[in-house]
Amino acid sequence: MRNFNLECLKCRGGMEQGYVLDRGDYDARRVARWIEGAPERSFWMGLSLKNRRQLETATYRCTNCGYLEAYAK
Ligand SMILES: [Zn+2]
Repeated sequence: MRNFNLECLKCRGGMEQGYVLDRGDYDARRVARWIEGAPERSFWMGLSLKNRRQLETATYRCTNCGYLEAYAK
């Protein structure tokens, strides 16, 4: 999937849509999320997400140089 509205900031090549894969509970596949603030370790959960804003991300890849550009909405 190409998005011709976006142009690579590094080389002005075309950007194609994609996403960064994340693994949830029981290895479930999901889209990586943007989390507000600095990472905070949690003994049980790996990272604590308490009271943090979470947004799904869309990541675009330059078909020429491979540069990644991510958006969180
Ligand atoms: Zn590029």
